[in-house]
Amino acid sequence: MTFHQPNKDKAAQFGNRNNALLSIVVPVFNEEDAVGIFLREMEAVLATCRKIIGGEALTEIVFVDDGSTDQTIARILAHEGCGSIIRIVKLSRNFGKDPALAAGLVHAHGHAVVPMDVDLQDPPEILPRMVAAWISGEKVVNAVREDRGSDTWLKRHSAGTFYNVYNRISSYPLQPNVGDFRLLDREVVDILNSMPERIRFMKGLFSWLGFQPFNIEYQRQARSAGTTKWNFWSLWNFAIDGITASSTLPLRVWSYVGGGVAIIALIYSIFLFMRTLIYGVDVPGYSSLMVVLLTIGAVNMIALGIIGEYVGRIAIEVRQRPLYVVEDEQTAHERSLCTRNANGN
Ligand code: UDP
Ligand code: MG
Repeated sequence: MTFHQPNKDKAAQFGNRNNALLSIVVPVFNEEDAVGIFLREMEAVLATCRKIIGGEALTEIVFVDDGSTDQTIARILAHEGCGSIIRIVKLSRNFGKDPALAAGLVHAHGHAVVPMDVDLQDPPEILPRMVAAWISGEKVVNAVREDRGSDTWLKRHSAGTFYNVYNRISSYPLQPNVGDFRLLDREVVDILNSMPERIRFMKGLFSWLGFQPFNIEYQRQARSAGTTKWNFWSLWNFAIDGITASSTLPLRVWSYVGGGVAIIALIYSIFLFMRTLIYGVDVPGYSSLMVVLLTIGAVNMIALGIIGEYVGRIAIEVRQRPLYVVEDEQTAHERSLCTRNANGN
């Protein structure tokens, strides 16, 4: 933890940016085709970042291996280049991108930390601008997608609908078109790391945190290699996690639905009562009875289902299991020497 500076003394931290450490956190899951391209692309960009920061600035890339079963780690270790310290945090199995990212944020030592995808969909070219903004004092620098042209029609529209619904019901609106690609100052990373929830909806955590972000726009590229691990079902679950993690409105709404149904039932009862008084007893009531019975039954089921979603998540949170399990950690120490030589030190 040589580079980790406790963030309590802000003045000291800002003063230290001259020999700062910049961390890039990259969760990887079966990305053997993408890691090599990523490392090659990053070399020049990180050299530029070190120049921008100045002094004896260092850069590290923290790969979080999220249970890959292919040659991902071997390809990272085989990378010949130098310039950045390369560290690998190996999780014991596939925990999913958000827990992997959480592990990376805990293991990154940098004064500024940037989570990135390995597939170059988060273009490294804009990193220097993000770093420059950080140097000038910004604590959160967001990379905002200008268009999602490279995403499929389904992904674009489902994402749009999700943002709409989410922002209507949550008190902490999400900034549309911002993913996990953002620069976070150590101060912000420490707060994120101290948040205990097990179901980590990162976008929601970021918006809860506040901090006025500085925005940099970019064009979203297509994947450099490999295929996305997301399918429609995982996106749907992601959306439900997001909404239940940030809002209790879906729970509260049932009191109103219940009230509404009760009022309709009362009006209908009065109508039936009056009709019986005026026209006498009307025996066939089967269809109206069934309609009322089924409607109320269905409404009850939906309400129970939604309460179940929350109860399930409460169960996960109270178990207090670790978010991820680190099996192994490796640091390519010689690369730090290599960095110093490359800097002429
Ligand atoms: N990823 C991960 N664990 C998973 C799924 C994905 O660490 O279970 C990583 C993946 O290797 C990549 C990043 O998360 O670096 C983004 O994944 P992907 O490109 O598949 O997502 P998309 O860009 O389609 O949102
Ligand atoms: Mg991707």
